[in-house]
Amino acid sequence: MIQNMEDTSPAPANLAELDLAELEAAFASRGLPRFRARQVFAWIYRRGVTDIDAMTDLPRDLRASLSAAFTIETPAVASRERSSDGTEKFLLRLSDSKQIEAVFIPDTPAMTFCISTQVGCAMACAFCLTGKMGLVRNLTAGEIAGQVRVLADAVGLREKTFNIVLMGMGEPLHNYDAVMKAMRILCNEHGFALPARRVTLSTVGLLPALEKLGAEPLMPNLAISLHAPTDQQRGELVPINRKYGVADIIDACKRFPVRKRSRITFEYVMLAGVNDAPVDARRLARLLAGVKAKVNLIPLNAAAGIPFDRPADTVVDEFARILAERDITVSVRKSRGRDIRAACGQLIVEGQQRSPAQRLATMAFS
Ligand code: SAH
Repeated sequence: MIQNMEDTSPAPANLAELDLAELEAAFASRGLPRFRARQVFAWIYRRGVTDIDAMTDLPRDLRASLSAAFTIETPAVASRERSSDGTEKFLLRLSDSKQIEAVFIPDTPAMTFCISTQVGCAMACAFCLTGKMGLVRNLTAGEIAGQVRVLADAVGLREKTFNIVLMGMGEPLHNYDAVMKAMRILCNEHGFALPARRVTLSTVGLLPALEKLGAEPLMPNLAISLHAPTDQQRGELVPINRKYGVADIIDACKRFPVRKRSRITFEYVMLAGVNDAPVDARRLARLLAGVKAKVNLIPLNAAAGIPFDRPADTVVDEFARILAERDITVSVRKSRGRDIRAACGQLIVEGQQRSPAQRLATMAFS
């Protein structure tokens, strides 16, 4: 047998994939004390330095040996577009050349980063462009946290307060472990020290993962993409509803350990003639009675290939009024960045490898 005689030394480990406990373990196995790991972690997340040679409070020979053993990988900004409303959409290139989008939304009133958890998405919601890509792959924890490093530097917010919404490409609960590890990285006091309550995780409601989330020590705020009050309507829009139906999701929400003074957000994309009738609003109000809920109405962001229309503002207002009358807190999402296709459901990266079936599906809608 001919052996491959090329370099067999292991690829250098990427420190950006490690939470602090793992970084400490990696350093301990090289005989390094914990405070060295904390120093490096603080350089990466608190100061935004990923060149080990520039970590000036480490002895020079240590920097050299760490540089030989480790890399620190960061998503590269492939392009950056700014909307007339200040929203900025970043196209980021990962180490395998796959691309994702992340969005900076200023003054809502907080500064917010909308970040992705997967390349594409498997959920195939009928009105979402990302869903048309299918799932290409999961993001790693380092790639999820890396988006925050890139955006914080790009817009000059590393030292400032910001919120994170896991509402970019992908279904966060379909990539559970990586998302939770990214939370550990982002919330760690030696790095960004982001309070978990500044993170909102938006999900179609994958029930087993949702139950698990309720027991996490670092728990984000929860947003449920509901979009319809009955299984019949929701099943047409959100295919996974056939597995995890409306009643079960609402039950899980009733049991969910919501923070004091906090509520679960129910997102409701409004589609003209599909789920925007007064009767839908009344059903929604009944469904949410007894849930610590607020409703966020999202008038559809239309796009080529999306076979639905946005309702008139008057229809949205009437829907909101019916909910408010029934004591449900309701807001209408002002979609930001529509002129650069950075708004909800408009994140899609063209030109990634798709299966023939996916290509056909896309063509059918074009
Ligand atoms: N997969 C998660 C995270 C994506 S969040 C989830 O579904 O919750 C993105 C939000 O934008 C979701 O509520 C999604 O339903 C909504 N959305 C998707 N397509 C949209 C569109 N075309 N117009 C408005 N909102 C859309």
